[in-house]
Amino acid sequence: MFDNLQDKLDRAFKVLKGQGSITEINVAETMKEIRKALLDADVNYKTAKAFTDDVRQKALGQNVLTAVSPGQLLTKIMNDELAALMGGEVTELDTKANPTIILIAGLNGAGKTTFAGKLALHLKSKGKKPLLVAGDMYRPAAVDQLEVLGTSVGVSVYANRASNDPVGIALEGIAHGKQNGNNVIIIDTAGRLAIDESLMNEISEVKAKTQPHEILFVVDSMTGQDAVNTAKVFNDRLDFTGVVLTKLDGDTRGGAALSIKSVVNKPIKFIGTGEKMEALDVFYPDRMASRILG
Ligand code: GDP
Repeated sequence: MFDNLQDKLDRAFKVLKGQGSITEINVAETMKEIRKALLDADVNYKTAKAFTDDVRQKALGQNVLTAVSPGQLLTKIMNDELAALMGGEVTELDTKANPTIILIAGLNGAGKTTFAGKLALHLKSKGKKPLLVAGDMYRPAAVDQLEVLGTSVGVSVYANRASNDPVGIALEGIAHGKQNGNNVIIIDTAGRLAIDESLMNEISEVKAKTQPHEILFVVDSMTGQDAVNTAKVFNDRLDFTGVVLTKLDGDTRGGAALSIKSVVNKPIKFIGTGEKMEALDVFYPDRMASRILG
């Protein structure tokens, strides 16, 4: 792991300078170091390799060796490249439709219900009138949790404890929201401990019947490679519109952001940075690039 990437690269390049010329071989050595660091940040191997191959080409193209600070230049090349790989720009939520229907999907414990509350607060602060729909009916505690969160952020919650039909609850919630003049309807859905067929069928059915404008896949950034695999399965079945990476307040360097983006090619829209309702940020690719590079 490199604590200060730039210093390390400067040192590496000093050695290269001493050798007089920059060769494919010694650049390859430096790239190996970078690849190791990316793996430490939880970037998957294929992504890390593709990235360093690309950066090597760019570094050879620009005269890195004659730069005042080769490390600084190379760090900038990497930063720009990483940010571009993660989408480059901020991807806004599409809330033009009235009402906008947003489905929240993911495994249990990923942070769906927490994110639903955070998103409601975020949209409320932008002048929207959201409704939260408690669609995780397998866990009665999830309905209570959403009601508590709704109260804390001042957003209404639609729940139907008598029902165990996820599609029915979602449709009732949408009808309720339309009647009450809500312009965004956020539907929390049931997860499972792991991916299984019944979960995928259920959430696909909810999608088919509710025709959401946004499907946000919520995933715990601390779960490393599992996060990437889960994202792939959910995307294959749901064709979601965006990713929410939670628990980025932990130790994780956030390599999952890069890996997920490169595997499913969908934008990361938000990051969760704590348990509190305010702990939500829009995803900025350049900030995440700096974080991954350490
Ligand atoms: P769900 O099963 O997907 O609905 O997950 P929950 O919303 O119940 O979240 C599971 C746990 O993760 C709870 O204890 C949350 O407080 C916690 N959590 C959710 N998002 C974050 C986050 O961004 N950071 C931290 N530190 N904890 C989070």
